[in-house]
Amino acid sequence: MLLRMSTLFLRTLREDPADAEVPSHRLLMRGGFVRRAAPGVYTWLPLGKIVLDNVAAVVRDEMNRIGGQEVLLPALLPREYYEASGRWTEYGDSLFRLVDRKGADYALGPTHEELFTLLVKGEYSSYKDFPAILYQIQEKFRDEARPRAGVLRGREFHMKDSYSFDIDDDGLQRSYDLHREAYTRIFDRLGLNYVIVAAMSGAMGGSASEEFLAETPTGEDTFVRSTGSDYAANVEAVRTPAPPAPPLDGLPAAQVHHTPATPTIATLVDHFNAAGLGRTFTAADTLKNVLVKTRAPGEAEWEVMGIGVPGDREVDLKRLEAALQPSEVELLDDADFAAHPFLVKGYVGPNALLQNKLRYLVDPRVVDGTRWVTGADQADHHVVDLVAGRDFTPDGTIEAAEVREGDPSPDGQGTLYTARGIEIGHIFQLGRKYADVFGLDALGPDGKPKRITMGSYGIGVSRLVAAIVEQSHDDKGVVWPREVAPADVHVVGTGKGEQIEVALRIAEELAERGLRVLVDDRKGVSPGVKFTDAELLGIPTGLIVGKGLAQGVVEFRDRASGERSEIPIDSAADHVAGVVRGA
Ligand code: ATP
Ligand code: MG
Repeated sequence: MLLRMSTLFLRTLREDPADAEVPSHRLLMRGGFVRRAAPGVYTWLPLGKIVLDNVAAVVRDEMNRIGGQEVLLPALLPREYYEASGRWTEYGDSLFRLVDRKGADYALGPTHEELFTLLVKGEYSSYKDFPAILYQIQEKFRDEARPRAGVLRGREFHMKDSYSFDIDDDGLQRSYDLHREAYTRIFDRLGLNYVIVAAMSGAMGGSASEEFLAETPTGEDTFVRSTGSDYAANVEAVRTPAPPAPPLDGLPAAQVHHTPATPTIATLVDHFNAAGLGRTFTAADTLKNVLVKTRAPGEAEWEVMGIGVPGDREVDLKRLEAALQPSEVELLDDADFAAHPFLVKGYVGPNALLQNKLRYLVDPRVVDGTRWVTGADQADHHVVDLVAGRDFTPDGTIEAAEVREGDPSPDGQGTLYTARGIEIGHIFQLGRKYADVFGLDALGPDGKPKRITMGSYGIGVSRLVAAIVEQSHDDKGVVWPREVAPADVHVVGTGKGEQIEVALRIAEELAERGLRVLVDDRKGVSPGVKFTDAELLGIPTGLIVGKGLAQGVVEFRDRASGERSEIPIDSAADHVAGVVRGA
């Protein structure tokens, strides 16, 4: 491959685009890799397209290695598939919907579980046909609420999505493990620094699920890691360890206190510390009951429920949403309180909820035998020593309280701290959710139908291009890892005549040896501009044919380390080829 900058469809930008906040967005725009066509919708220009294809090639290679077979499904999908799975409604505003000339509804596919399930149902029928792994690399469409950072979060983007089909749970586990290994190899080959975190499975349903996050300070996903082990999890997926339950007997009886002017947890704690009860109270001794309403997809009615968390913690709405999804959640407003007069705002205790048959879910720290200061269900009153398992029995636990740095790690080793990352891949065990919807069965050896179990696995191929740049750039430009770089070597001819000719000659020689070469053969462009562009474009190896030509030398540059050395022109091609091959 030989690309000549004199004719290449490429215009680099000197200035950062005004709307570009993160490095990958800035550099991919400035380097002429992508151009914005509409919010969250991007065009890939020649060099960007090469990188995108290189990333896809690595993904393909590793998917094929685990026995995946590539297919290509349509992006234009009739409503009925998504209606059958409930996702026509569940996807809400994120689904791009359109209507054909006959008035039939369609969606632009955001992910393809439905169609893949139907595809396999149409072709396979015996247990002998399984297992199967099918994948595609395709444009996906999601009307994201906040398209952001260029191709990092687009509304049209490239995804590798694969689906595994197995006869039984062990098979699913094997397919899942194969994907996990393939993903590890892909992201290693792409030179990424990433973590695998336990995740929630989102709108997909199902159980085991992990995300691959590329660590970067600009990432949208906050995750936690442990100081004492390799535990890492999405904040939404952190399971709070329940403390041991203290014995119920011997605890004092609950007492209601008049607590005027205690609008906050802090004032409440001060009140009881001043009340001479013979012990010291902290915010962690209080039980804060937050009232929310939730609504399942497609339902008209909201359900009001109470969430009890220790008063030293806030409810984390993202964790709460993740715990309740696919239902939506909102806080109660004044009209809701008015409709439930037994809920005394600011003084809601467990018992008003439970006695009125509203669901009451508590933080896992609220184990039987713990005693709490909480609302007494009447204005200006709180109760002390309300004991869980004795004075109230919640309907269950919920992971809704915020996770804080320093919290104990759920695996019992070390404490948690937070870091940020970009979700680059996601693997999960769907189980039989979609097979149930579409009746995907295979005849077993005994002649009886067996329900197939599925996994679904995504990689953000276009997002990866940006994630790589986030992790691999400097203040001058991109530093492409060799595996995905738009070219192996960037030959720059400076000066007017001879240097450019020699540069072209070396470039041709390198291309003949099978290297992918970009040559700057532009006339009338200053060396300074060429060097600036070379740094911006980030090809791993550079070869400068400049002033040294008279002495028979050219300059070799390594983009990542910045190292430069002079080498004799006669051995330049050998040297470069050796470096590229040896890498
Ligand atoms: P996110 O939480 O970032 O919105 P998601 O969990 O909705 O992503 P999945 O449904 O798991 O995404 O999709 C599989 C992969 O596709 C993700 O791991 C991510 O790498 C990529 N991806 C998802 N949404 C986008 C997007 N809007 N733009 C680019 N890539 C995306
Ligand atoms: Mg995901």
